[in-house]
Amino acid sequence: MTSPFIDTHIHLDTYSDEEQKMILESLPGCGVETVISVSMHLESSHRNLKLAQQFHGLVKPAFGFHPEQPLPSDDEIKALFSFMESHVNEMIAVGEVGLPYYSRLEAMSGVKKWDNEPYKALLEQFIVFAKKHDKPIILHAVYEDADTACDLLKKHGVTSAHFHWFKGSSETIRRMNKAGYYISFTPDLLYESEIRDLARQYPRAQVMTETDGPWPFEGPFEGHMTHPGMTAHVAAAWAELQGLSLAESNRILYDNASRFYRLND
Ligand SMILES: [Zn+2]
Repeated sequence: MTSPFIDTHIHLDTYSDEEQKMILESLPGCGVETVISVSMHLESSHRNLKLAQQFHGLVKPAFGFHPEQPLPSDDEIKALFSFMESHVNEMIAVGEVGLPYYSRLEAMSGVKKWDNEPYKALLEQFIVFAKKHDKPIILHAVYEDADTACDLLKKHGVTSAHFHWFKGSSETIRRMNKAGYYISFTPDLLYESEIRDLARQYPRAQVMTETDGPWPFEGPFEGHMTHPGMTAHVAAAWAELQGLSLAESNRILYDNASRFYRLND
């Protein structure tokens, strides 16, 4: 028997109700055991909590604030943290949180001024929360932002960090792998050379699969709605890059995600 798949990063709450139902009903048939549904903000956290209650075991919710959007007000931040405090036993992780690499790049290519400090301060608050409650943290932090995130994680002694859809310099890659941080591959592992290179060098024991759905993919996935079942293709691509059999790769990827997210505790 081959190990099941885990989609360690999907925005399930942002699919339509019909799509959610269709996706969740089709998971067992695709060999997907669990999806980790990350949140964009407070309202999204509410929706993911509800999905997790409705589809117990199948959906595990993470709560946070996605960095690629305007900052929340102080009141909104307070409300989000108090929601997280009161649902700490239901949340599998803090996420999606991080730093706004793409928004900053876009703003700086124009005339707009950019202040990254409040984003850093908010990320630090999430890291402190993760430490306090012993929760893994799911990060959106690429290129030089990953270094900033590593500094903050180190400052607070957080070791359980998952950099989803990570991209970065070889120096950052070395640093992250030494710190024991995990990364995950999306379906672009099938066609993106930068990601394929990363997959060849990152330690086998620190990688997982994800879709970041509903984000759409290219190549063989062009025109298809992003579905957690695509993690099977990601696992197969990784097996090929690593020279592993499918049974081996599926088992390693499953063990990694189960261990990182303490799914069977
Ligand atoms: Zn995401």
